Amino acid sequence: MADAFIPPAKPIIGDDERAAVDRVLLSGMVAQGPEVAAFETEFAAHFVAGRTVVAVNSGTSGLHVGLLAAGVGVGDEVIVPSFTFAATANAVALTGATPVFVDIESDQFTVDPDAVEAAITPRTKGIMPVHLYGHPARMRELGAIAQKHGVLLFEDAAQAHGAALDGRAVGTFGAFGMFSLYPTKNMTSGEGGMVSFDDVELVRRAKLLRNQGMEKQYENELVGFNYRMTDIHAAIGRVQLAKVDAWTASRQANAAYLDANLAGVVTPPVAEGAVHVYHQYTVRVPDDRDGFVAALKNEHNVGAGVYYPVPNHRLPSLQGFAQNRELPETERAASEVVSLPVHPSLTDNDLERIVTAVNTVTEAGA
Ligand SMILES: *Cc1c(COP(=O)(O)O)cnc(C)c1O
Repeated sequence: MADAFIPPAKPIIGDDERAAVDRVLLSGMVAQGPEVAAFETEFAAHFVAGRTVVAVNSGTSGLHVGLLAAGVGVGDEVIVPSFTFAATANAVALTGATPVFVDIESDQFTVDPDAVEAAITPRTKGIMPVHLYGHPARMRELGAIAQKHGVLLFEDAAQAHGAALDGRAVGTFGAFGMFSLYPTKNMTSGEGGMVSFDDVELVRRAKLLRNQGMEKQYENELVGFNYRMTDIHAAIGRVQLAKVDAWTASRQANAAYLDANLAGVVTPPVAEGAVHVYHQYTVRVPDDRDGFVAALKNEHNVGAGVYYPVPNHRLPSLQGFAQNRELPETERAASEVVSLPVHPSLTDNDLERIVTAVNTVTEAGA
């Protein structure tokens, strides 16, 4: 095969990030300190203006801290999609609460508000939609449902830095919103997470939970973790923050090109009023998805990802929470989705190759 492999994702880490790390290493102070504080302020101003964010050492810890700060615990239920990465439901389960899985919509890949409302019980404490692939969930409807039933709204915005709905940024709708900084996400700090809050008391609890329950040293107020971000990671994140808007614009331009040129697959829907940041560019291939993925790779050297082939409610770890629920749209998506490369490192030639590969494979299969 003459053409180089086009990977489905490619973290961009350059000289600026290396210099920033070196600066922190040279300072001799590497644990949570001034870099983390600066990163929190800058991240909040950039993505969730008016909110305070708390930095932690992963997106998963961010969900855990957010849920605990909001008072979620044993005996509570939190409504979540099954069609997501396992961290969403894992964080709920680790608080002692029960993740209640609901179906997604038939076109969008985010939770169906009607299914959410139908799943509310006297034990429901919160609803945690996921802005999957970088597309905002139906926050208007979900907000109204949460208000009507007196439950909290949370946001798993792990994949959605900069996404918005009706001019409002994700991470500003819920009691908390979590952004992941894992290397394949739209920006990275190595590992890390950011949690936005609109309530000072929740911020205080989140900071306590992050640091063994201590605000003053050895005056521990509650039982907490060590979920601190290091200054090394924060320094990387601060450099990436200055670049992420250009990367997002590049993802969106790549997506527009694919939308205009792909044939034989269902291109990603974008809801009215939504800004999609294309963490993934996910198409549906109704017939023989796995054969399609194999042909892209074997015949065209184009990498594609399947997120996620097994819904959470059928994972060995989480199926105990599933209560024989039927989630037909979740099952259909799990069997049909393919994420094509959309990352900012793609060249024009790469994009042309992706289009040719997809259109050739779908034509051959038709
Ligand atoms: C990546 C991700 C997480 C977890 O973030 P980590 O930083 O990997 O811990 C949670 N939810 C979703 C939807 C994710 O994609």
